[in-house]
Amino acid sequence: MEQRDKILEEYYAQMGIAKPVYDFCMKVEEELKDRFLSIDKTAECNQMKVLRAMQKNHLSETCFAPTTGYGYNDIGRETLEKIYADVFGTEDALVRPQITCGTHALALALMSQLRPGDELLSPVGKPYDTLEEVIGIRPSNGSLAEYGISYRQVDLLPDGEFDWDGIEKALNEKTKLVTIQRSKGYASRPTLSVKRIGELIHFIKERKPDVLCMVDNCYGEFVEIEEPSQVGADLIVGSLIKNPGGGLAPIGGYLCGTKECIDRAAYRLTSPGLGKEVGATLGVTTSLTQGLFLAPTVVKGALKGAVFAANIYEKLGFKVIPDSKESRHDIIQEVEFHNPELMVAFCEGIQAAAPVDSFVRPEPWDMPGYDAQVIMAAGAFVSGSSIELSADGPMKEPYAVYFQGGLTWEHAKYGIMMSLQKIYETGKLKNILINDTES
Ligand SMILES: *Cc1c(COP(=O)(O)O)cnc(C)c1O
Repeated sequence: MEQRDKILEEYYAQMGIAKPVYDFCMKVEEELKDRFLSIDKTAECNQMKVLRAMQKNHLSETCFAPTTGYGYNDIGRETLEKIYADVFGTEDALVRPQITCGTHALALALMSQLRPGDELLSPVGKPYDTLEEVIGIRPSNGSLAEYGISYRQVDLLPDGEFDWDGIEKALNEKTKLVTIQRSKGYASRPTLSVKRIGELIHFIKERKPDVLCMVDNCYGEFVEIEEPSQVGADLIVGSLIKNPGGGLAPIGGYLCGTKECIDRAAYRLTSPGLGKEVGATLGVTTSLTQGLFLAPTVVKGALKGAVFAANIYEKLGFKVIPDSKESRHDIIQEVEFHNPELMVAFCEGIQAAAPVDSFVRPEPWDMPGYDAQVIMAAGAFVSGSSIELSADGPMKEPYAVYFQGGLTWEHAKYGIMMSLQKIYETGKLKNILINDTES
């Protein structure tokens, strides 16, 4: 054994990983070489895409000067928005620290494009939990429903396919905007590839050319070499404390799309008449821009972590979505435990592996916007950031954890090893692990 391998093994032992867990995980990693090489290539493409946009738009040191007050003529903000537009292949972009989170970005997108009497259609089933209150699926103060905007939903078919007939029937003269969620979120459905999103948009626009197609791009950015805006989406939306912030953005959300869509969103975010012209950046532009620069690499590490987790837990007999071999379209990995104890143990492991707050124990709590208790494990530099290593899930059947992030592959790897360690310590997997490493 090389000396370095020995030292590494000692580190893991000191950091709480038992020998059977270590051996099992290292073997799984060894089998993933080709897969990881392909992830590296995607990251390389996306790094070039981001770098090209920064050079083209003459990103300069002057862009990093903070602005205060109204923020008129904030050249850093304007440059960053041009860079986002180029990276995502759109006419315009709105990238702001005043957009407080992903839900806010999505609510802004919906509320700015829809008017009373319009109808919103989701052709991919139930949207992300927090959007139920935005739309008014669950009655809520200030929802779209209160403004007289109706909602229709067509579920995916049991095999995960689009319900083409159902979608065709659901489109009507009131349909103004179609919202397509790329990632599965807290649902056990497949994540949509950019290619499938393109096919869906094409189908819809063929039948109703004037309808706006919006994509909730959360967790999907830089996972593939194309984005939904490059296959027909009029508007894509996401959070900066997920993929595109690269772990450095301390806050923010983005919308990229046609000039018309972005104008409407800007007039809704600030005020009619003011639009994009105001919005001081208070010194965060460097983090937002540098975060975008790092994002392809950070997403690469997170993706490797997700694939690693899928392979480990599938081998141990748990259902994992996506499965160990499937192609990836977001950074989320679901593992179904059908058991609250194992689910909590998994989250304890992720927490124990964190650089921040590794000494605290995650507990289920009543999180606003969710209809069941949620357990969340994260020890992040940016509070709540889920591009950093994190795991969460609602405490209800199938007791599934949704695992995502990791600013580096090495940390994601240790986090997953630690999750397995905690599960191993429950005593329920001992035999499986020992048998596997002895064979
Ligand atoms: C995270 C997420 C959201 C909401 O973002 P928050 O920042 O948590 O408000 C919406 N949709 C999807 C698919 C997400 O993953």
